[in-house]
Amino acid sequence: MTQQIGHIVIVGAGQAAANAAAELRRTGHAGPIAIVGEEPHAPYERPQLSKDMLRPGCAGARCMRETEAYARDGIDLHLGVRVRHVDAARREVQLDDGRRLPYGHLLIATGVRPRPLPPALHASPRVRYLRSIGDAEALRADLDAGHPLAIVGGGVIGLEVAAAARARGVAVTLVEAGERLMQRGVDPLVSRFLDRTHRARGVDIRYGLQAEALEDDGTLRLSDGSRVPAARVLVGIGVLPNVEPFAHLGIADAAGIRVDAFGRTAVPGIHAIGDIASQPVGGRHGRIETWANAQDQAITVARNLVAEPVPYAAPTWFWSDQGQTNLQVVGDATTGRTVVRGDADGDAFSVFRLDDAGRVTGCATVNAPKDMALARRWVRQRQQVEPQRLADPAIPLRDCAA
Ligand code: FAD
Ligand code: NAD
Repeated sequence: MTQQIGHIVIVGAGQAAANAAAELRRTGHAGPIAIVGEEPHAPYERPQLSKDMLRPGCAGARCMRETEAYARDGIDLHLGVRVRHVDAARREVQLDDGRRLPYGHLLIATGVRPRPLPPALHASPRVRYLRSIGDAEALRADLDAGHPLAIVGGGVIGLEVAAAARARGVAVTLVEAGERLMQRGVDPLVSRFLDRTHRARGVDIRYGLQAEALEDDGTLRLSDGSRVPAARVLVGIGVLPNVEPFAHLGIADAAGIRVDAFGRTAVPGIHAIGDIASQPVGGRHGRIETWANAQDQAITVARNLVAEPVPYAAPTWFWSDQGQTNLQVVGDATTGRTVVRGDADGDAFSVFRLDDAGRVTGCATVNAPKDMALARRWVRQRQQVEPQRLADPAIPLRDCAA
């Protein structure tokens, strides 16, 4: 049965916000819904920014729905305006243009922003980040112009941009502070594959170094004193949560806005969805910065406002397209016993992670999307498998369950 829950205000007009608003209407919520977003655009999905939008001839960014579709659904879009404060006692949101919006329920969907380089580097007009349509347009113009690119950070952003830039013949040097690529999400075997394939495409990769200074001769000086070509610098060194308008409410932790499995904060009537939500995951709290979470967790939380609440419990899943490489990751693909299926020195393989009881807790597939279809189910079900059979690609995957 649909409950009457009054005004709903969603702060942040990104992917999670759009999914939550649409779900509220789908489930029959008839009351007012407002979305407030600081960007000038209707909600859009960000994966296109580091993929389609960097290809030559891209027609531009796609929004999730036309602006008119929100109006038809009775969803008020307030764009180009920031929420600066929330008064939880009065249940009111304050915008930076002076307006105040009352709410019955507040959904915080403000996402994250790129972690900046130190001020001296950050301030340079040669430095780029990649989070918004504007950022992607600026970077694409740099690629069109063929400016040699230094990329700081060997995570998902750095590697997707490196692949896009090399596909267009742009010189790329990638500077990673750690010892391997994508260390946050994948195990060393996958990092090794990424190192090999990106180098084969011409990316100059430097490990264990930091960016120190931009020189007038068009180079970037690194912490070992070496200089690399850097007419432009693309920074992908992680993110910071957009918690500031809510910090005084005591609902933020180090990762974001802390919620339970139902999306509820400690303050009645306030929930958090998408990247900003610090959720229970693997026995701790943390952000889940994925497209799938911005869809499925947001939908679950929206439904929980109007119907019998259910916990959000889907395993983390994301993909990354890097040139010819399709990488997919589910669950925790960095800890537990490793079982490799296929040739890790070849072009396609999967790395399964098992717990002590032989149950699948995580998996990373490299150009093996069919393995991922079953791996996702297995991680969800914590399926027990037979490791020897799993390691033999001649045995169909479905026959490896114990
Ligand atoms: P966002 O989409 O970031 O939306 C939050 C919005 O809130 C922003 O528009 C922000 O400006 C606004 N906002 C912040 N503070 C305020 C305020 N005070 N007032 C008003 N508005 C505010 N995931 C994958 O799984 N696979 C991929 O291939 C992939 N590719 C990606 C590529 C790029 C370049 C990026 C940046 C991300 C990618 N992701 C990918 C991650 C995925 O896009 C995010 O997890 C998703 O966008 C999170 O959605 P969200 O709605 O929580 O946050
Ligand atoms: P990330 O955490 O994935 O990677 C950051 C990398 O930068 C790490 O390898 C880290 O060791 C390195 N690093 C940190 N500080 C450094 C420094 N000072 N110098 C050099 N290297 C440094 O973060 P990201 O790649 O910036 O991605 C940002 C956000 O974009 C995340 O929310 C991510 O989920 C999202 N995103 C996702 C995808 C995808 O899932 N396919 C693609 C692009 C972006």
